[in-house]
Amino acid sequence: MKMRILIKEGEYRLSRAGCMDAKLDAEELFCFLTGLDRVGIFLRAQEEVDKETEEQYMELIERRAQRIPLQHITGVQEFMGYKFKVSPDVLVPRQDTEILVTEAARIIREERRAEPSFFRRIRGDREWKVLDLCCGSGAIGISLAKICDNAAVTMTDISDKALEIARENADSLRAGVEIFQGDMFEPVKGRKFDMIVTNPPYIRTNMIALLQEEVKEHEPVMALDGGRDGLDYYRTIVARAARYLRPEGYLIMEIGYDQGEILRKMLKDSGAYRPAEVLKDLPGRDRVVKCRLV
Ligand code: GLN
Repeated sequence: MKMRILIKEGEYRLSRAGCMDAKLDAEELFCFLTGLDRVGIFLRAQEEVDKETEEQYMELIERRAQRIPLQHITGVQEFMGYKFKVSPDVLVPRQDTEILVTEAARIIREERRAEPSFFRRIRGDREWKVLDLCCGSGAIGISLAKICDNAAVTMTDISDKALEIARENADSLRAGVEIFQGDMFEPVKGRKFDMIVTNPPYIRTNMIALLQEEVKEHEPVMALDGGRDGLDYYRTIVARAARYLRPEGYLIMEIGYDQGEILRKMLKDSGAYRPAEVLKDLPGRDRVVKCRLV
């Protein structure tokens, strides 16, 4: 069968199964199987595909048609231009989260902290101490460590299995990061950071059932469920982060599209932070809240 026809067939099967991006996923799976890239597929669309490849391809398509996330089949997701390994133990990094990383990286690169002394510099001390709370696959912390050579990144998560993936990602991407298992701030007791970044679980419990099948059936619910009103983790973070931040330190959190105002208010009411700023994603919805310690 011609490559073009085969991929079209994959697309039909996926759209009948209710997959959102049937065309893209059908192409991605063909790339994954053959090692071609999308341009390669385009250029070789008229070529014949052998029987074995055809069968293997339709097997991949069948798995995706069962609504297994594409990234669980390919095992990877690109984030900030880096390839992250993923598994059902971690949330697949979302493109929306790149907004948080881009903003954090901008601050770290543009704003100088107290310059480390000559001796500290030859010891390799970094100017910015950054904590990635609830790090999951490590996408946020590892990207920051890669992009900002003046950032020393510490990451924590409660899930051992997630941290196995985070460690593999840190190794394969050669990012020098510290990784600790534990609940929220518990592993970094007594330490101070210049910046805390986090994408905690923030979906309301009763909304989980309404998520796409790929997400609710295959992604870790502990990485999504933010409690009855979705704000459980923010309450803990807003109450405790101040103790782990240096004066004027930054707290930057991913939030749900309808949580900007309430987060702004929570931060204000705590009295520990300067007025917060809400950043929007490309479609114009609230996505990140950023503030500084007074
Ligand atoms: N943005 C994720 C989703 O759409 C949720 C991430 C989170 O809860 N931190 O499923």
